[in-house]
Amino acid sequence: MRVFDPEPICCGVCRREATGIGYAPKQGKPVLWLCEEPECISLGKAIFHMMPKTLTVTEALALQDAGADAGAYLERLGKFNLSELTEKEWSTFLTTILNAYGENMRKRVTQAIAPF
Ligand SMILES: [Zn+2]
Repeated sequence: MRVFDPEPICCGVCRREATGIGYAPKQGKPVLWLCEEPECISLGKAIFHMMPKTLTVTEALALQDAGADAGAYLERLGKFNLSELTEKEWSTFLTTILNAYGENMRKRVTQAIAPF
């Protein structure tokens, strides 16, 4: 789902903190705010114009990718009961999901707009 916050809050690509950079096709149009990641900045236009259904599917797939990465982290720890994680491990688990989501969104949107 595209987020058009009146002010920079969430990056329209990776959902991390947005800065003052954004994409809008012309003045007076809603702005898709972006973070400082150069790849997010270059993908802002593609996200802005992506069909909502395609974007929703892409986000769902990126979230599944992130879940797989977080699952791989749990496998490395050998812990599958989340209540057994230490505070640090829980933090790493959550950070893995957050970062992997952004990485996979950038990768999937790049692939979707790549000329073949
Ligand atoms: Zn971003």
